[in-house]
Amino acid sequence: MATDRPALICEECDTLTAVRRVPSGVTAQCSVCGNVLYRERQDSVRRALALTLAAFILLLIAHAFPFMTFTMEGNSTSGTIFGSVMALWHDGYWELAIVVLTMASLMPFIRLALGLWVLVPLTMGRVAPGTFELFGLYSRFQAWAMIEVYLIGVLVAYTKLVDLASINLGPAMWAFGGLIVCAAAADNVLDPRAVWWRLAPQNKLGALTATGQPLVGCHVCGQVVPLPVDAHHVHCPRCHAALHHRKPDPLARTWALLIAAALLYIPANVLPVMTVTSFGKGQPDTILSGVIELIHADMWPIAALVFFASITVPVLKILGLVLLLVAAQRGWVARARDQTRLYRVIEQVGRWSMIDIFMISILAVLVNLGEIAQIEPGPGAIAFASVVILTMLAAHSFEPRIIWDNRRRNHATSPA
Ligand SMILES: [Zn+2]
Ligand SMILES: [Zn+2]
Repeated sequence: MATDRPALICEECDTLTAVRRVPSGVTAQCSVCGNVLYRERQDSVRRALALTLAAFILLLIAHAFPFMTFTMEGNSTSGTIFGSVMALWHDGYWELAIVVLTMASLMPFIRLALGLWVLVPLTMGRVAPGTFELFGLYSRFQAWAMIEVYLIGVLVAYTKLVDLASINLGPAMWAFGGLIVCAAAADNVLDPRAVWWRLAPQNKLGALTATGQPLVGCHVCGQVVPLPVDAHHVHCPRCHAALHHRKPDPLARTWALLIAAALLYIPANVLPVMTVTSFGKGQPDTILSGVIELIHADMWPIAALVFFASITVPVLKILGLVLLLVAAQRGWVARARDQTRLYRVIEQVGRWSMIDIFMISILAVLVNLGEIAQIEPGPGAIAFASVVILTMLAAHSFEPRIIWDNRRRNHATSPA
């Protein structure tokens, strides 16, 4: 490894590498675990800025106009993002209102605003105040900004209502579509690493190894820093995030969150997630009965989507994390690369389970015609949203580097 090159530590397996120049469009992967290390994109900051700005404007439009209008028996209601939040609030489900407000509105807004705050001055060669801390938040908020999941929730709600009454799509719907394309393109074009390297250069491999100390990679900005193993309360010199060799208590924390999620999974499936009242007759719906209803209505693709997102994904996440925890504790090192891949999938797929919660919030605002038809959330929805959030936190608190620590220990003790 050339010692004059910038150093990088893989976040998932802790392998130290040297950054090398790769052609534009190429993604550099870790040679040990396959994790994405960095990407090279031409003119990435300028292009990301244009896309982020477009996404921000579209997000404003998506908030200002209704995404659907529902008309039944001469009465009509319009659905907006804030309307869906208020509907949950008025029905007494303030927990769900906060969840929807945070994930479908606040987080996407804050994240795009943070992006603009950092990227606009950066294209002019300047650095805005607070850039280092704020760009750290930009990366951390990604998992919780769920505008694309919200859009799928809107589409599922649409297919549920389209046979019942007359539904007109509003301007917000088109803004949503454009917004998701722009936001996804911005995330694809911008490697946060490239921004960090521009803000302050990555430390060089030679200088770091010369210190003779153990090295640690900052989990927010990726800077590599010498740090004694027992050091506490040391912060990254670039982004000021707390530095640690391993996440604190990863196994105990992940187990605790996972057990809580598994317990709540029972009421999430047994209790109704919503109640549909039509001409005085009420019918509670659980997640599974909602899927069965879609099958009876011959909406197979949507039924499969909801079944996958709401039933399969949470179960697979819980089982997958249990498997990873047991493997980490028992020191199972076989197929370490597959274990890491499983962890990566669990981390990325979790957010899609929120589809049902978003769908319920949309149905609650649209179908609000008193005696004629009314949809209200049920207690199961709170349990279900908790399951999704707890499993996301559990995945986040797990430490994939334990898999590789075990493997290295195993290789060191066994004869070659
Ligand atoms: Zn790796
Ligand atoms: Zn840092």
